[in-house]
Amino acid sequence: MKIPFVSLAHQTGVIKMAYQSRLEELLNKSDFVMGPCLSTFEQNYASYTGVQYCVGMSNGLDALKVALRVAGVGVGDEVIVPAHTFIATWLAVSEIGAIPVPVDCQLKTRNIDETLIEQKISNKTKAIIAVHLYGLPCHMKYILDIASEHQLIVIEDNAQAQGAKYKGSMTGSFGHINATSFYPSKNLGVAGDAGAITINVEQYYNHALLLRNYGSIRKYYHEEVGYNARMDNLQAAFLDLKLPHLDTWNAERTSIANTYVKALSGIGDLTLPFTPSGYEPAFHLFVVTTKFRTKLQQYLRQGGIETLIHYPVPNPLQEAYRNLGYANGDFKNTEQLSETVLSLPLYPGIAQEQVEYVVQEVIQFFKEL
Ligand SMILES: *Cc1c(COP(=O)(O)O)cnc(C)c1O
Repeated sequence: MKIPFVSLAHQTGVIKMAYQSRLEELLNKSDFVMGPCLSTFEQNYASYTGVQYCVGMSNGLDALKVALRVAGVGVGDEVIVPAHTFIATWLAVSEIGAIPVPVDCQLKTRNIDETLIEQKISNKTKAIIAVHLYGLPCHMKYILDIASEHQLIVIEDNAQAQGAKYKGSMTGSFGHINATSFYPSKNLGVAGDAGAITINVEQYYNHALLLRNYGSIRKYYHEEVGYNARMDNLQAAFLDLKLPHLDTWNAERTSIANTYVKALSGIGDLTLPFTPSGYEPAFHLFVVTTKFRTKLQQYLRQGGIETLIHYPVPNPLQEAYRNLGYANGDFKNTEQLSETVLSLPLYPGIAQEQVEYVVQEVIQFFKEL
């Protein structure tokens, strides 16, 4: 049996016919940028997320950059970020001239350790980015309370958690301004690159619209040095067709995750995803940890099962961030995760027998160890 790490074929298949006719329409109109299908998707995604406004963006990195600029973050400011996240969270901070200030993660949730945030706040700190890693929401109440005490902006990086809930509300609706990515393999994925910002404050919304489009609202009049960071209509139409299926696909992810959890609890030295009560994760990834990660990955590969490592190098120790001067031992939990995490195949459309085969192979590995 061959099991790819991810396959988008099922999701694409569900909307393919409908998209073909939308595409035909759009091609006939030759209406490609800033058309009505973008605003329709923006309204639908805002209402799905439970916020007032959504701004469609070119990708998740641009969405984070614009969110930071809307938050008033600029050159020399500090932004608190998790050490353990996809690099884009950090790049957004650096690319606008600000400084990422990392906080170690918790081993149990793999998310930012909220209890370590306060000690990293300085008089240069402007914002905190809360990343709902692997689809599990952060402890938003704690983070929002610290932020309000220190008058900081909270930005959610919701790229891995579309459709996740924290205490009954959607992630992407808690921060002052929030960013997400619709990279193809995310829970809501596009046929290329796209992202979005979700906001409740009208003034932030208007600023994000401006920055997305060359710093301009009125054509050829520029109030600020902005970006070209728009989502195009072909992508908006694709997303709008997928959005009504997101909850079903997330439920499928949860059911696969439950199968894994049930079957793999207590096997070898594995640790499995942990879900605090009141949290409804969107299971973007199913991440286990084991000291025998390299051997397990190799064993599964030989059995035709593809796995990935999210992520092998802690951001503070990346070559790109050498200038920040961090060393081994500075972020112990993040370092431990980078040496032990392994993501198992999980996606809508994976067959039950494929999941069972993965389980069987993992169990067999630990038997033979
Ligand atoms: C994917 C991702 C991003 C970046 O999104 P792109 O659309 O690829 O630019 C940002 N943050 C996190 C946590 C991600 O997983």
